[in-house]
Amino acid sequence: MSIPPLIESADVAVVGAGAAGLYTALIAAGGGARVVLVSSSPLAQSASYWAQGGLAAALDPEDSVDLHLADTVAAGRGATNRRMAEILCAEAPERVRELERLGISFDRSAGGELLLSLEGGHTRRRVAHAGGSATGRHVTARLSELVTAEDGIEVHERTSARALWVEDGLCTGVVTESAAIPAAATVLATGGAAALWQRTTNPRGAIGTGLTLAHDAGAALADLEFMQFHPTAVAVPGELDGFLVTEAVRGDGALLVSDEGDRFVDELAPRDEVTLGMQSLMSAGRRAFLDLRPVDMRAFPNIVERLAGAGIDPERDLVPVAPAAHYMIGGVVTDEHGRSTLRGLYAVGECTCTGVHGANRLASNSLSECFVFGRRAALCAVEEPVPAPSGPPPSAHPPARPDEGTRAALWRDAGPVRDAAGLERLAGDPYPLARLIASSALGRRESRGCHLRTDHPAVDPALDGVHTVAGA
Ligand SMILES: Cc1cc2nc3c(=O)[nH]c(=O)nc-3n(C[C@H](O)[C@H](O)[C@H](O)COP(=O)(O)OP(=O)(O)OC[C@H]3O[C@@H](n4cnc5c(N)ncnc54)[C@H](O)[C@@H]3O)c2cc1C
Repeated sequence: MSIPPLIESADVAVVGAGAAGLYTALIAAGGGARVVLVSSSPLAQSASYWAQGGLAAALDPEDSVDLHLADTVAAGRGATNRRMAEILCAEAPERVRELERLGISFDRSAGGELLLSLEGGHTRRRVAHAGGSATGRHVTARLSELVTAEDGIEVHERTSARALWVEDGLCTGVVTESAAIPAAATVLATGGAAALWQRTTNPRGAIGTGLTLAHDAGAALADLEFMQFHPTAVAVPGELDGFLVTEAVRGDGALLVSDEGDRFVDELAPRDEVTLGMQSLMSAGRRAFLDLRPVDMRAFPNIVERLAGAGIDPERDLVPVAPAAHYMIGGVVTDEHGRSTLRGLYAVGECTCTGVHGANRLASNSLSECFVFGRRAALCAVEEPVPAPSGPPPSAHPPARPDEGTRAALWRDAGPVRDAAGLERLAGDPYPLARLIASSALGRRESRGCHLRTDHPAVDPALDGVHTVAGA
């Protein structure tokens, strides 16, 4: 195994170029740091690109940080870290304003008012969006432009991080396919793991490689049993299967109906409740459809376009939908400055477990989390003293990749409903992260939020606020 060439040391190495990584890199460079940004996908091709709904923030005069906090905590089903949620809700409005100053045009009315959507679990309209339901595309395109123009950021695209460089309990950099990068602070921004599940809304690369890197380096992971399933992913054979239809359409009047035409769930309930309603219907052999006919779909042009590709006209047809793996709530344990339990290692965005989402993420809180905690991590990371790695970088083997068998097993054994028998089977899966997910889900002997166990169907109040930690 050859050791990749060493590049000049960075103040901050950021791994991942979704919303969290791009923004963290920009803030760190703005703070005077020399930043190296490594991304296995080209800039702006990430899960962030696909984000539809937008960013949750209390921006409406009728709204408040306290109301946003109350909704976040209620959705989290007793597992939310209140302190972290307070930070998220308090700082999200300023992050939206700052993104506007950076050149992202959030949608506004003709009179100049910010247009805010209503999504499930929110008691107020508070989701800022751009280009209708093309928010992710707008945000990542502009941030990529800014990163490319920033002299303080060196971009390494199409190259993957293969190992973290750790010496004496300190993370001193990262090793990629092509370079060893010593860094005062290393920030993982590698996104989630929903593409480990067979049925997913995520791009194929979302397989949790950052979680594996952090775990192998000795950083703690938590709450891996909490995979959030999105209730309204299109369910048709072919390429469109798994395509997400944002719940903002339900905020604008779309209905969920069964194959017999009856409504079976409150469309604006938090995601776990809607998914449970869908599962109950489907386990009785019935099907679920999204009725978009009450909605003015001109506000969602990319959805109309994608549905048209499969011959579905939302003004005429009901859209078949079913749950799909969508968002990994668990991840690298971080504090309010994005610091992991391994000194020198930070994490931001979906690869983290900040505790903000509890057991059930409130819709559109994840992009806000990327920016709120991305900024905090960047400002803390630029203050890290530059270490001098004394030994050679670790040899970095190509990472194990999950195969279709693992994806099928996660869907079957750790899908929207689970039990001990399936999880024990999954605990023998060849893919290490699948085994960690299985053991976390086995350990939580209750049903809470998006973790539904048929063998432990009730919430165990003794587990309120308890997190499942893997590694340390
Ligand atoms: C279809 C869809 C719609 C969504 N809609 C919304 C929404 O409206 N509002 C909301 O708040 N959230 C939404 N989400 C969730 C939200 O988009 C994500 O949680 C968020 O964008 C994650 O951003 P991130 O920067 O953490 O990760 P990502 O955007 O996933 O980026 C991860 C980056 O890491 C890179 N990477 C991964 N592993 C490595 C490695 N080993 N080496 C180098 N690079 C690596 C990838 O190439 C990529 O650049 C949606 C998600 C999807 C899939």
